[in-house]
Amino acid sequence: MLKTTFTLITKTDLTHDVYELTYSCPDLVRDPPKPGQYVMFQLAPGLNRSYSLASFTLTTFTLVIKRVEEGKGSYIICDAEMGQVFSGMLPLGHFVLRDTPVSKCFIGTGTGFAPLYCQMLGCIELWLIQSHTAFVFGVRTLVDVFYADEIQMIGTQFVHFQYVPYLSREDKPDFQKGYVIDWITAENIADYVEFYLCGSPIMVKSAREKLEALGIANERVFWEQY
Ligand SMILES: Cc1cc2nc3c(=O)[nH]c(=O)nc-3n(C[C@H](O)[C@H](O)[C@H](O)COP(=O)(O)OP(=O)(O)OC[C@H]3O[C@@H](n4cnc5c(N)ncnc54)[C@H](O)[C@@H]3O)c2cc1C
Repeated sequence: MLKTTFTLITKTDLTHDVYELTYSCPDLVRDPPKPGQYVMFQLAPGLNRSYSLASFTLTTFTLVIKRVEEGKGSYIICDAEMGQVFSGMLPLGHFVLRDTPVSKCFIGTGTGFAPLYCQMLGCIELWLIQSHTAFVFGVRTLVDVFYADEIQMIGTQFVHFQYVPYLSREDKPDFQKGYVIDWITAENIADYVEFYLCGSPIMVKSAREKLEALGIANERVFWEQY
C-alpha cells in the first residue's frame, strides 16, 4: 500500500452527476493495484473518502464518481481543477478479481459500477475470456446511464458475453424495467460459477440472500457495498 499524491489530468462528464476522473500517479508502478481495489483520498483532517478504481495503468488510474449534492467530500473531488494534487492511499481492499478460469457474473448498481468494470477489464488482461461472462447493471433512469458503449465493446472480447442493463424507474427499449435483483433467477444464474456484487448495502444484501436461497455457496460470492 502506498501513501502518495496524485494529480488530476482529465475530467469527463458521464451524466448530470457522474464524472470520469483520471489521475497521474507515478508511484503506482511500485505497488500495482488488483482489479476491484480502491483509493482513499485524504481531503482534510477527518475527511477521508474512498473510490474504487474503474481502470488503471502503470502510472495512472481512473475513477467514476457521483457528485453527491449534499455530500462533504465528493464535490471537492468532482469540482477540482485540472492539475490539482490530492493526497491519499492506494491500493486498498480485498474485493478483487479471482484469477480463476471459470464463468463470472458481475452485478451492480449506480456507483457500484467502477470495481465491476475494472474486474471485467482484468478478465481480459488475464485472458479469462473463454467462459460465460455477464454484466448486469442498473441505474434509475435513461439520463443516469453511462459507459454503455464501453461495456458493449469490452463484451466483444469475451467468447460468451451478455450485458443486461436495468432501469428501475423508467420503461425504455433495450432496458429491463426493474431491479438487477430481479435478474437473479435459477435459470439466469445457471451458467455462472463466481458472482461479484457491488452497490448499495440493500442491493448487495438482497442479491446475497437470493443467491444463497438458490444454492450458491458463499465462497463463490464476492461483494462490496457503499
Ligand atoms: C470501498 C469504497 C469504494 C467506493 N467507490 C465509489 C465509487 O467508485 N464511486 C462513487 O461515487 N462512490 C464510491 N464510494 C462512496 C464514496 O466513498 C462516498 O461515500 C461518496 O462519494 C459520498 O461522499 P460525500 O462526502 O460526497 O457524501 P457524505 O458527506 O458522506 O454524505 C452526505 C449525504 O449523502 C448521502 N449519500 C452518500 N452517497 C450517496 C450516493 N451515492 N447517492 C446519494 N446519496 C448519497 C449520505 O447518505 C448522506 O446523507 C465508495 C465507498 C467505499 C467505501
